[in-house]
Amino acid sequence: MLAGKCLCGTVHYAVADEFAYALNCHCSDCRRATGSAFKPFAGIARGKLAITQGEDRLLVYGTPDAGDIHCGQCGSLLWSVVRDGQFVHVTLGTLVDAPAIRPSAHIFVGSKAPWFTILDDLPQYQGHAGEG
Ligand SMILES: [Zn+2]
Ligand SMILES: [Zn+2]
Repeated sequence: MLAGKCLCGTVHYAVADEFAYALNCHCSDCRRATGSAFKPFAGIARGKLAITQGEDRLLVYGTPDAGDIHCGQCGSLLWSVVRDGQFVHVTLGTLVDAPAIRPSAHIFVGSKAPWFTILDDLPQYQGHAGEG
């Protein structure tokens, strides 16, 4: 299991080190949600993530089954609930422990910030992975 937490430490979570995929998303929603050039995240079945502290302090943007889960105190974006509530996309930046997986591609490069240049050799997709 990997530990994760928000900036202020109100919310702690534990997630299995069994991520199915990891990607860097350059879409404008991810840029705004993180305040960063892109969002590195990893996907896993929702049941493999457990909130270990601060469950009553979450801020949900959207709905609990299709939304972004933030700490209600400091605002850190912790994960997004996706795929009809079955999966979560955990922000890799909130992990305390290093996961085994590494991001394998850049997605939504078609909406990438013009002030950011991708300098690695990972595959780049204009939209979702697999859409060229
Ligand atoms: Zn917090
Ligand atoms: Zn995105």
